[in-house]
Amino acid sequence: MYINGEWLHAKSEKTREIINPFNQEVIATAVEGNAEDAKTAIQAARVAFDEGSWSTMPASERGAIVNKIGSLIERDLEELAELETLDTGKTVQESREDMADIANVFFYFAGLADKDGGEVIASPIPNSESKVVREPVGVCGQITPWNYPLLQAAWKLAPALASGNTLVMKPSEITPLTTVKVFELMEEAGVPKGVANLVLGAGKSVGAELASNHDVDLISFTGGIETGKTIMQAASDNMKKIAFELGGKNPNIVFADADFETAVDQALNAVFFHAGQVCSAGARLLIEESIHDEFVEELVERTKRIKLGNGFDEDTQSGPMISAEHRAKVESYVEIGKNEGAKLVVGGKRPDDPELQNGFFYLPTIFTNCTSDMRIVQEEVFGPVLTVETFQTKEEAVQLANDTIYGLAGAVWTQDLSKAEFVAARLRMGTVWINDFHPYFAQAPWGGYKQSGIGRELGREGMEEYTELKHIFRNK
Ligand code: NAD
Repeated sequence: MYINGEWLHAKSEKTREIINPFNQEVIATAVEGNAEDAKTAIQAARVAFDEGSWSTMPASERGAIVNKIGSLIERDLEELAELETLDTGKTVQESREDMADIANVFFYFAGLADKDGGEVIASPIPNSESKVVREPVGVCGQITPWNYPLLQAAWKLAPALASGNTLVMKPSEITPLTTVKVFELMEEAGVPKGVANLVLGAGKSVGAELASNHDVDLISFTGGIETGKTIMQAASDNMKKIAFELGGKNPNIVFADADFETAVDQALNAVFFHAGQVCSAGARLLIEESIHDEFVEELVERTKRIKLGNGFDEDTQSGPMISAEHRAKVESYVEIGKNEGAKLVVGGKRPDDPELQNGFFYLPTIFTNCTSDMRIVQEEVFGPVLTVETFQTKEEAVQLANDTIYGLAGAVWTQDLSKAEFVAARLRMGTVWINDFHPYFAQAPWGGYKQSGIGRELGREGMEEYTELKHIFRNK
């Protein structure tokens, strides 16, 4: 752990084995912090913030340090990508792309650091001056999940640092490796002691302390809805600011006039990328009834050809699930789907390949004959499971797409731009893709409508989450 500029063992001296989900080998032993460690780290962040040299440093200097972190990530990109693949099982090609995106996130927020100088507003009171400035919120608690360990961390670290906050981060206890490495890089880049602190450990101890401690001014959390509710309750005790990125059950709407080839390929990519363990996975395919049979037939054929394997093999298209527990959850959802009357058309079991038996693999799975009232359609499985529903009109497509508690992302495929715009305008979601799936970048805000989240990450809005607005009125 990294607290107040020092690399430390946990007070408890407990450790946790970090497992490679491809073969269950122990790849590292991590210290296991507890609530006491979290308190120490929060105190360090509090002192560093109140002392003020980071928050009042010229913003361009802070930006230069954040920029340097991005450069160091580029320098160590291959090492970071390999660590991420060892820790999560995702393909090393995906990890490399993640690392390049992560460097860009640091560059983007570094560039924003000195761009907002506040504004002078028109005061209605004679002989007065009114200005509005942005200031850092203070001490931030940051809690991340296991599916994109470093990407999710970067979305929080870069804007928090660039806008002058201090912070304590707790990565997922099962995937801490790349986050530890980036704290080494932040030290090398010149982030002063106490400004960025790292505590490893469980959600119920370290995470809960970050959520409830009164010296934390803002809690930024990415993870599941139920955890979000617990954190929200704990955070209410001192009215912390909250920024939440939660789950999704994202619709992928395909009209009959869509480019068939691309729509099939992207429907697979949308849901099976990273074994479906993606908050914005296109887990609900809504297909215009007239092309249903032809589309599903092609989907099933191509699904059978998806190559599961070791993330380090060049021809692997999808790795394992993150853990035995998570695979068991996916398996239980497949049983639920069958019992609800959905029709299993491919997958629905673990692969037979003897070489995959030590990993937490599960075959890409498709259910047809699905309806909106099914749990398999409504609940986030967070695995390689696609449900297929049909629609006849654009209005029905919109109604089905919005029929969920989630509102993270969705896509629409058609060559008729006015139809695409009709749907895009009506989807109650933070991101809508037209004739594509998954693109995101640092410049555009990311976040959820409805129960998919509160606030935004990335974009200018992602920076603003980490600031307070102050109105200064001066009587001349
Ligand atoms: P999770 O909610 O189980 O855990 C996320 C983090 O919260 C972990 O670090 C965990 O230790 C911590 N935590 C657990 N209990 C806690 C508590 N009581 N108090 C404080 N912290 C606690 O989620 P997960 O299984 O790691 O990740 C999967 C979930 O994350 C999915 O629902 C997925 O949709 C969501 N996710 C959302 C986005 C997004 O951008 N919206 C991105 C990635 C993942």
